Amino acid sequence: MDRMKRIKVREQNPLERARNFKEVSMGYDLESAKLEASRCLNCKNPRCVGKCPVSISIPEFIAYVKDGKIKEAAEVIAKASALPAVCGRVCPQENQCEGQCVLGIKGEAVAIGALERFVADYVRENNIDVNIEINKNGRKVAVIGSGPAGLTCAGDLAKLGYDVTIFEALHEAGGVLVYGIPEFRLPKETVVRAEIENVKKLGVKIETNTIVGRTITIDELLEDGFEAVFIGSGAGLPKFMGIKGENANGVFSANELLTRSNLMKAINDDYDTPINIGKKVAIIGGGNVAMDAARTSLRLGSEVHVVYRRSEAELPARLEEVHHAKEEGIIFDVLTNPVEILEDEKGWVKGMKCVKMELGEPDASGRRRPVEIKGSEFVMDVDTVIMSLGTSPNPLISSTTKGLELNKRKCIVINEDNGLTTKKAVFAGGDAVTGAATVILAMGAGKKAAKGIDEYLKAIK
Ligand SMILES: Cc1cc2nc3c(=O)[nH]c(=O)nc-3n(C[C@H](O)[C@H](O)[C@H](O)COP(=O)(O)OP(=O)(O)OC[C@H]3O[C@@H](n4cnc5c(N)ncnc54)[C@H](O)[C@@H]3O)c2cc1C
Repeated sequence: MDRMKRIKVREQNPLERARNFKEVSMGYDLESAKLEASRCLNCKNPRCVGKCPVSISIPEFIAYVKDGKIKEAAEVIAKASALPAVCGRVCPQENQCEGQCVLGIKGEAVAIGALERFVADYVRENNIDVNIEINKNGRKVAVIGSGPAGLTCAGDLAKLGYDVTIFEALHEAGGVLVYGIPEFRLPKETVVRAEIENVKKLGVKIETNTIVGRTITIDELLEDGFEAVFIGSGAGLPKFMGIKGENANGVFSANELLTRSNLMKAINDDYDTPINIGKKVAIIGGGNVAMDAARTSLRLGSEVHVVYRRSEAELPARLEEVHHAKEEGIIFDVLTNPVEILEDEKGWVKGMKCVKMELGEPDASGRRRPVEIKGSEFVMDVDTVIMSLGTSPNPLISSTTKGLELNKRKCIVINEDNGLTTKKAVFAGGDAVTGAATVILAMGAGKKAAKGIDEYLKAIK
């Protein structure tokens, strides 16, 4: 075995998987997980832990995997994370724990994400209970939103003894994990629902179909005996380009496409959720959400173009996602910017006018600014346009809660040390505070706020 190279994870064949919604990666089996774990150098000063937003004791759990002690490995992870099977699959490990691994300097970093996923899947599939001791304190905390921020905050508070209720607007818990990230990257029944069940086993109650700001307000929750509130309501409001023709039939947001296919099960023949996807689809944007929308459209039978105004080197999506999308047959039209969507006489998309771009001087983000090439206009032959340009927080909670300060981007302002907002007893974290970010950052924020709430409540009583 070459210690500088990682043990490969099993994957579905690209041509087969491009036509089904089954999970692309099949993860490690016990033997390959033990082999991969044996590559870990168990560094004295593990840089990987410092880069994990929830501070999992990474070398400790990997050492247990190496010895085949998977329950013990799971217990180490459970101290820090409520959603290991999710994070093992969707965290951008290459920029976090794995990005810090010393083996990565001259060879390939230890596959920390794949090992985390293996441990979580193994204990779930083998019905191994992970032991956590809880001493109830009888104090009530409300959590708004059941995405990774809300679930983590709720789970951590429950472990500290609090009586926690999550209020969720949708009919199902999980946030983006259930309505956004597709089944082929994150299986809902076996992975997401199972991890949510684990949070419930800690005693957390989840009330779905409850829109805070409509069904009940934050002030009413505080009057109802909840001593603190955590807002983890995410950033689910999609942005559009504001170009001509954007209201045509056949233009929609990536969030709508993904919600219809994931949460409302349009991909399942037993459900009658409509999904008006055409033969040739343009996805506008180059982030993770764009890759998910592209790969979902492909699986629904369309030819798919990802249209991105900068070059491939600037694509914000994870490298792994771009690689998978290419393998499956997604076409990348980079340095291309839509300027108008053309409609037929019935109001349906019949093409998209675009211009070619080149890269100029760096802009405020440090990336080279895309500049239009004069006279480069052309019409792209597409019948569906899916906008994937980012999202922002929904203003419902802020507009129904007095005393909650927002920044220029309409995100909730918090004290970075403990997650406390400008309103007494109200904390916040995740995408509602940062704008669209990542699962693990949302979890890190939920964790920090849980600690902040605990300290706050202990200080007042
Ligand atoms: C398609 C897609 C793919 C992604 N892929 C990745 C990936 O591969 N890796 C990664 O790390 N990140 C990924 N992300 C980003 C990641 O999912 C988010 O950063 C993360 O889910 C944010 O967590 P959160 O808990 O703050 O919010 P969310 O997950 O958005 O959860 C917020 C919850 O609050 C609920 N809510 C909102 N308003 C109210 C209200 N008024 N009352 C009650 N409930 C309310 C919502 O219904 C939702 O369930 C992806 C995002 C999308 C959209």
